[in-house]
Amino acid sequence: MKKIYAFERECLGCRLCEVYCKTAHSKSKDIIKAHKQENITSAIIIEEILQPKAVSYFALQCRHCASPKCVKACISGAMYRDEKGIVHNDKKRCVSCMSCVLVCPFGAVKKSNDGKAVSKCDLCVDYGNGKSLCVENCPNNAIKLLNEDEAEVLK
Ligand code: SF4
Ligand code: SF4
Repeated sequence: MKKIYAFERECLGCRLCEVYCKTAHSKSKDIIKAHKQENITSAIIIEEILQPKAVSYFALQCRHCASPKCVKACISGAMYRDEKGIVHNDKKRCVSCMSCVLVCPFGAVKKSNDGKAVSKCDLCVDYGNGKSLCVENCPNNAIKLLNEDEAEVLK
């Protein structure tokens, strides 16, 4: 299964991935409306690391673990792994207990801006016509959709 891998050395810190993630998960699918009218939480988060002489960036994103702790911890069955291995959050079933937020070892599950449910990467399965929009719109190819073997070669 292909997953999103982030390559810190290529990341410019421009946060375009966050912009397109929010747009992909908005109701309007419109970049302006998604940001001005809808309070969407990005499922990929770029963190800044301040170093003595530079700033570097790394992306927090779901690893779609083979044995996902978020799924085991979920009290309502909202968090599930599908037949392809993609880990999803069903917002209709989520009761916002935040157990998944606490147990994810990668910090990849976040409280939604509306405080009602959680937000996490779903690889844009329902939105991107087979494409993950953060990957498609990264100007420096810092985020890639790869299988494990391909990612190992590039590390
Ligand atoms: S949310 Fe965290 S624990 Fe759950 S599958 Fe993704 S990386 Fe693994
Ligand atoms: S916040 Fe929602 S998805 Fe996460 S463990 Fe609780 S019910 Fe499940």
